[in-house]
Amino acid sequence: MVGVGDIDTLIAAGSLDVASSLLSAPTDFGLDEVRVLPPVARPGKILCVGVNYPERNEEYKDGSTAPAYPSLFVRFASSLVADGQSIVRPRESSELDYEGELAVVIGRTGRRIPPEAAWDHLFGVTIANDGTLRDWVRHGKFNVTQGKNFDCSGSIGPWVSTLDEFPTRTWQITTRVNGDVRQDDSTARMIFPIPALVAYISAFCTLEPGDLILTGTPSGAGGRLTPPRYLEPGDEIAVGISGVGTLRNRVIAEPQIEEP
Ligand code: MG
Repeated sequence: MVGVGDIDTLIAAGSLDVASSLLSAPTDFGLDEVRVLPPVARPGKILCVGVNYPERNEEYKDGSTAPAYPSLFVRFASSLVADGQSIVRPRESSELDYEGELAVVIGRTGRRIPPEAAWDHLFGVTIANDGTLRDWVRHGKFNVTQGKNFDCSGSIGPWVSTLDEFPTRTWQITTRVNGDVRQDDSTARMIFPIPALVAYISAFCTLEPGDLILTGTPSGAGGRLTPPRYLEPGDEIAVGISGVGTLRNRVIAEPQIEEP
């Protein structure tokens, strides 16, 4: 297939025509016959935006107005499972929480990308659950790395939708837990819109094909409810994004170590 063996190569080559040519080809398997993998196999960087919706800022109850700059942190690919795979509540915490988010996939290399050129650097969008161990994000004074990077604590997928499908460039995010709507908001309400995020992030690092930006979660995460409602083994989280699809995962508990 003209040298495109995987999604990373396809994104880097900008070979959308190759993907399009496959649309009319006969399929070997149905979607229910395969195990879906993360939509980008080896993202070089996964950057995540904290507090990017108005009520989400208010949920922090710290009296702060909208921030001047985005809050950023990073995740490792090992912290994100694919659609249909289990999210693991680790032994170390009972405060596993969901965060439904739109994720953008970089398609073209760029440094210091101006906001007006940002969309040209994107390959497409996908769905993320920025799963979080709430007590572990508060361990350090200035960082949230631990609570955002437990193995298999979040998810991404099921696929990447290319931008040509979305002329308005706005999406509705709806997160359900066991069918109950917990989050429902439009990306049009982001404090830092996608072009501003791409410009800000690329001011300090080169964005490359396959890099991911998780653009922040609306209000309604379980940890901000009164009382907090954390995820339990067996719970199903479904993050839906309009025009893209739904990312579904169930929670399992990591087995406890047997006492000798
Ligand atoms: Mg988040």
